[in-house]
Amino acid sequence: MRIYPFDIPLVKPFKIATMTNHAASGVFVAIDAGGVTGWGECLPFHAINGENQGTCVESLKIFAEFLIGKNALELRHLIKTCFQLMPTQTTAICGVDVALHDLVSQSANLPLWAWLGGSQRELKTDLTIGIVDPEEAKSRAAEIASQGFEVIKLKLGDGLANDYARVEAVREGAPDVDIRVDANQAYDREAAMTVLEGIAEFNIQFCEQPVKRGDWEGLKWLHNNAPVPVMADESCFSAQDAFGLFSRGCCSLVNVKLCKSGGLLGGADIGSVVESGFGKSMIGGMAETRLGVSASAHLACTNQVFEFFDLDAHMGHTFDPIDGGIQIVSGSINIGESVGLGARPSSEFLNKLSCFEVK
Ligand SMILES: [Mg+2]
Repeated sequence: MRIYPFDIPLVKPFKIATMTNHAASGVFVAIDAGGVTGWGECLPFHAINGENQGTCVESLKIFAEFLIGKNALELRHLIKTCFQLMPTQTTAICGVDVALHDLVSQSANLPLWAWLGGSQRELKTDLTIGIVDPEEAKSRAAEIASQGFEVIKLKLGDGLANDYARVEAVREGAPDVDIRVDANQAYDREAAMTVLEGIAEFNIQFCEQPVKRGDWEGLKWLHNNAPVPVMADESCFSAQDAFGLFSRGCCSLVNVKLCKSGGLLGGADIGSVVESGFGKSMIGGMAETRLGVSASAHLACTNQVFEFFDLDAHMGHTFDPIDGGIQIVSGSINIGESVGLGARPSSEFLNKLSCFEVK
């Protein structure tokens, strides 16, 4: 395994309720076997996963030692063992999971979505606006709509007055788009209810994670009483979480992210639970490059239960170091025809990075 930490500055700082991000600081993972290289990416958000670039590098070294001499085709067994070795390091496990999937699907000479038994389908993504002033939100919303996006995701979390003004500004700037919002655990249940009652007039699709991740009862109360549907994001990392949330009536919407689920296998498992519970789900991301976003798009092709897409993670980066991979045209994702994942870091970018090799 080769491990490449990287940093890509963002065009503007990205503020959410729990942290402000200035750079996409992640790790590329390369796994070589039989003359083929599979690529994966870890993009940790410390306030969500409790992982950072350094913890990902150290976890990957442990996974690399374990993977030496193993058969990549035994993917599920290998990933389950990674979970046994480092149960909470889901971002690091995601890098291994995606690299192994890229490796085996390239070896089978199939696009990853086809190796997974999926179908090509239209994937319309939103574009996200962080916690910014209303004037900036309004002009960003108008710009996003003019680029052909039909959905805007807006971050909430700095109080009812500011949240209301920001949503109102987005609605003024882009009267015809769908709006979804995300409070990133900012509120207790009563404050969340006040915010949702306030913004409901703007016809909001749903609100991600209005309450703390552990406040399943609060989420349930909002699910039953709030005028805007609620979606679990930070509360739902795994299929077990999704099963618990659905079976206890806490919500009917969950947000799947590969860096929470430990990659594609975990993400597909959540999809099966959502399907069994007659719920709906979104696929989102952290601040991945187009490599990580491409992996999410392949997962999206495996199950119609993935209905909403928030696959704009790379769009705030100052440069794009990825060869191949998905392209976004007028808000729709083109996944391409390449075998495997179809995306890899450019040689030019890799040559600038330090590399830890375990073999
Ligand atoms: Mg979210």
